[in-house]
Amino acid sequence: MSGDGLEIRVRGRVQGVGFRPTVWKLARELGVTGEVLNDGEGVLIRAGGAAGTLAAFLARLESEPPPLARVDAVETRAYAGELAPEFRIVASEAGAVRTQIAPDAAICHACATEIVDSSSRRFRYPFTTCTHCGPRLTIVTGVPYDRAATTLAGFPLCEPCAAEYGDPADRRFHAETTACSACGPRVKLVRFDDGEIDLAILDDVDAVRALLASGEIVAIKGLGGYHLACDATNANAIAKLRATKHRDAKPFALMAQSLDVIRRYCAIEPIEAAALTSPEAPIVLLAATGSERLPPQIAPGLGTLGFMLPTTPLHRLILDDFDRPVVMTSGNESDEPQAIDDADAARRLAGIAAFALVHDRPIANRVDDSVVRVADGVVRVLRRARGYAPAPITLPLGFERSPQLLAYGGDLKAAFCVVTGAGDAVLAQHQGDLDNPATLADYRKNLALYRTLFDHAPTAIAIDRHPDFHAGVLARDHAAAAGLPLVEVQHHHAHVASCLAEHGRALVAPPVLGVVLDGLGLGDDGTIWGGEFLLADYRSSRRLGCLKPVAMLGGDRASHEPWRNLYAHLMAELGWAAFTSKFERLPVYGALAAKPRALLDGMQRSKLNAPLASSCGRLFDAVAAAVGISFERQAYEGEAAARLEAAVDPRALAETDELAYPMTIVQPQDSSVPYLEPFAMWDAILGDLLRDTPVGVIAARFHCGLARGIAHMVANIGDAHRFSTVALSGGCFQNRILLEQCAMRLRADGFEVLAHARVPTNDGGLALGQAAVCAAGLITRGDS
Ligand SMILES: [Zn+2]
Ligand SMILES: [Zn+2]
Repeated sequence: MSGDGLEIRVRGRVQGVGFRPTVWKLARELGVTGEVLNDGEGVLIRAGGAAGTLAAFLARLESEPPPLARVDAVETRAYAGELAPEFRIVASEAGAVRTQIAPDAAICHACATEIVDSSSRRFRYPFTTCTHCGPRLTIVTGVPYDRAATTLAGFPLCEPCAAEYGDPADRRFHAETTACSACGPRVKLVRFDDGEIDLAILDDVDAVRALLASGEIVAIKGLGGYHLACDATNANAIAKLRATKHRDAKPFALMAQSLDVIRRYCAIEPIEAAALTSPEAPIVLLAATGSERLPPQIAPGLGTLGFMLPTTPLHRLILDDFDRPVVMTSGNESDEPQAIDDADAARRLAGIAAFALVHDRPIANRVDDSVVRVADGVVRVLRRARGYAPAPITLPLGFERSPQLLAYGGDLKAAFCVVTGAGDAVLAQHQGDLDNPATLADYRKNLALYRTLFDHAPTAIAIDRHPDFHAGVLARDHAAAAGLPLVEVQHHHAHVASCLAEHGRALVAPPVLGVVLDGLGLGDDGTIWGGEFLLADYRSSRRLGCLKPVAMLGGDRASHEPWRNLYAHLMAELGWAAFTSKFERLPVYGALAAKPRALLDGMQRSKLNAPLASSCGRLFDAVAAAVGISFERQAYEGEAAARLEAAVDPRALAETDELAYPMTIVQPQDSSVPYLEPFAMWDAILGDLLRDTPVGVIAARFHCGLARGIAHMVANIGDAHRFSTVALSGGCFQNRILLEQCAMRLRADGFEVLAHARVPTNDGGLALGQAAVCAAGLITRGDS
C-alpha cells in the first residue's frame, strides 16, 4: 500500500532507551501504519495515515519520549514507498554511527518495585534493569549498542527474558542489559584474606549488611567501579578505613537508604532532593545541619556531607531496612583510580577490606560517582561522571559547521572532549589526576573508547598551552603522528569559553567579561595566572585585570603548603620588620618565625623557584594559613579553601559591607594590567586576629571583601569597555559563598551573570572550552 506517507527522522539519544517501542505503541494507538527502525543516524520512522493522525503522532512523539531519551531533532519529508499495514519494528540497519550512548541511569520506579515484590520473577535480583534504567556507559564495549557490544554478552537470555525482550509492549523490549536470576549475573561474597565465610542462614547480600552493622569494611563491586563501604556511624571503622586507604582528610562519600535517613544529618532543600532522586543520582553536597552528627573524620573541617541514594538494585538490597548511612568511597588507595577488575581489586583492596561482594558482570569502563552542589539556587556539577557522561552538550548557534575535534583538557580532574561532526560536544567522564600512571592509562583507554563509540576522526587537536601537562604530551604526540594541526588554548580563556558554550552563547555574540578564579594556569605572558579578568569571546581573549601577582615560594610546593603563600603575601605587603612590630603577639607570627626565612627570602630576592602568580587559590591558602585553619600542608587540592569556606559564620555574611575587608585597584606604572591590591585586607585580617575576632567572622569578611573587590574591578573595566555579561569560571567558584557573593553583587550592578551548572567550573570543564575555542578558530578561518 502506498500513499501520503511521511518519513520521520529522529536524532539524539534515541537508541537503547526504548524509543522504538514507544513509537510502536503510539502508532498502534493512533492507527498509524508503517515501521520504525534504528540506523546509523538515529531512529527512522515511515508512517502512513490521515494528515490529522500523522500530526497527532508527531506531536506526541515529541511530547512523550521515553524517560532516558533526548530528542535533538525531528525532520520529516514525504514518503511514497510501501508501508506495512500493521505498524512494525524492523531490524537495525548498519551505517555510520551517529547515535549516542546513554549515561548510566539509577534504577527506575518500576524495577525498584519488582525487586521488593515477592511474587515477581525479579524479587531480590540485584541486576534488574529495563529500557528506562540501568548500566550503559559502564558496560558498553562497542557500537552499535546492542547486547553483543556490552559486558552482558556472555549471558544469553532465558526463555522468559527473551520473550520480554522480543515483545514491543514490554518495558524490556530490546533492553540490552536485561537479565534475571536464572540467566543473568550473580553476586558472591568472598574473603580477600584466607578466612572462612560462615553465612549461617543469610544470603550474600544480607550478609554484607550484617558485616557492615558489625563494623567491618566491605569492598563492593558496584556499577562503575569498586567501592569501600563501612557503617558511617562507627568511628572505629572509619578510622581504620582512613588509615588503611591512606586517605588523611579528603571527605568520604555517603550512601543512605532514603531521604529520611539523610535528613537526620543534613538539611535537604527541595532542589537537592530532586537531584538525589534523579536518574543521574549523584552525590549531593548537603549542609550538615541535621539533629544528629556523624563522626567528624568523615569530612574533617567541612560543614557539608556528600550523600547519594542507592542507585542500583544491588545497593538498594544491601541497604534495605538499614537505618544508618554507610560510607561509600571509591575502592582505591589514596589517589589511584578505583578498581574495576576483580583480580586487581583483590590485589589492591585486600589490605583494606577483609570481605568483598563481587559479581560476574564485568565493568567495561571505570565511571566514578558524580558530585553536585546547589549554589545560587542552581544544581552545579562539580565532578561529572556517572549519570552525566557521555551525554552530549549541543554547541551553540554558529558551531554547526565545526569539524570533528578532540580537546585533551587538563591534568587535574582530567576529562577530554570530543566534538562530533553533528555540532555536539561530548565531554568524557571525570578521570582524575593524570600524574597517577594508572589514571593516565585509563585516560588513554577512554580516548580509544570514545573514538569507537562516536566513530570519531578529529581534524584538529586542542590542548592547554602548558608545556608539561601529561595530557599535553599525549596531544602533541597524537597531532604529530596523525599530521593534525595542534591548537594551544590559554587556560583561562578555555574556562570562559566553557562557560559560554554551556550557556549556549552564540559564536558571533559580543564579548563578555570572564572572571576566572582558580589555582594556576599558564598565562599569555608566560607567567602564572589564576585570578583573571578577561574580555573574551570564543575567538580571542584580552587580559584587563588580575589579582595581585605574588611569589610562589618553592614553586609547586606552594600549592601544597599554605603557609608559604601566607609568608609571601605578608612579605610583599608588610615586610618582616613591620609584621614583627605590629603582630608579634599572634600565634601565626611564631609559626612563620620558625620557618627557614633566610632561604625563602633568598628565593624571593633571586626570583629563583619563586614564580609570580596572580592565583586566587593561593590567596585562599594564605588566608586559611593566617587564621590557623590550614597552615602546614593540604591533604588534597583545595582543602584550605574548602575549610575556609566551611568556617564562614553565616550571620557575619549579612554584616554591613564596611566590615568586609577592603581591596583596592592599583594601576601599575609599567604597561601591565591593573590588579586588586590586598594590603588593606591583610592589615584588617591581622588586626581582627589581634582582637580575637572569631575565625568564622574573619572568613566571612574575607569572602565578602574579595567578592566586593571583584565587582569593583569588573565595574572599573566596564568604564572603558563594552560588555553586559560576566562569565564566572575556575575551580574557586566551587565555593558556594564566593559564587553567591560575586553573582549577587554583579547582578546588582546590572550585569547578566553566567556560571557553570552542567559542566564543572573546575578543570573538569576545561576541555569543552578548548574545543569551543579551537572550533571557533577553524570556522572563522574557513569563512575568510
Ligand atoms: Zn527499570
Ligand atoms: Zn532471564
